[in-house]
Amino acid sequence: MNIVLFGAPGAGKGTQAKELIEKYNIPQISTGDILRNAIKNGTKLGLEAKKYMDNGQLVPDEVVNGLVKERLAMDDCNQGFIMDGYPRTVIQAEVLDEILKELSKEIEIVLALDVPTSDIVERITGRRTSKKTGKIYHIKYNPPVDEKEEDLEQRADDKEEVVLKRLEAYEKQTAPVLDYYKKQDKVVMLDGSKKPNEITQEIISILENK
Ligand code: AMP
Repeated sequence: MNIVLFGAPGAGKGTQAKELIEKYNIPQISTGDILRNAIKNGTKLGLEAKKYMDNGQLVPDEVVNGLVKERLAMDDCNQGFIMDGYPRTVIQAEVLDEILKELSKEIEIVLALDVPTSDIVERITGRRTSKKTGKIYHIKYNPPVDEKEEDLEQRADDKEEVVLKRLEAYEKQTAPVLDYYKKQDKVVMLDGSKKPNEITQEIISILENK
């Protein structure tokens, strides 16, 4: 199962990916997570990426395409993978098709989470990640049972001023990727305003009836 989870920042891609990797035992490939790890580890890639991420801009295509190519060549992708936050430009989508072709694979389905832009800022600014488990919470809509136990942190780019720039990048550079996949007849639209577990059930039933 080679899946792309598509949607604006805060649409719920990461939340759904976490559920699906457990159910299907395939890896989540999140370019955002790979880049944040590089920043944490202080690598050259991290230093380069941070300049863009702190400003809500996309990291250059060559950089992320290289990361994805390396990641897809790993053995754990043989049974499938879930792309989360990639491709984010039409060029990335084209390069991904080339990378997969070389590996005799292809994207089978694009699950697009649709959330009204008006909800997104509140969703993202309230988002917190558990330092312990990596699980994603929302301080108002989905708080953890024990906040201390989870040791929550806010992403540096989840502050309102950066979020607005990320949304602008999404509209200009990422939204056209959906048309790219619609032309390939691979897109299934999902109402991202529903409860996370309802969406997960919907996705599972789509994948199992494919
Ligand atoms: P995310 O965790 O997917 O929201 O990504 C956080 C940030 O990482 C984005 O705002 C970009 O700066 C960068 N990033 C993640 N994935 C990509 C990508 N596919 N292309 C370019 N930049 C990316």
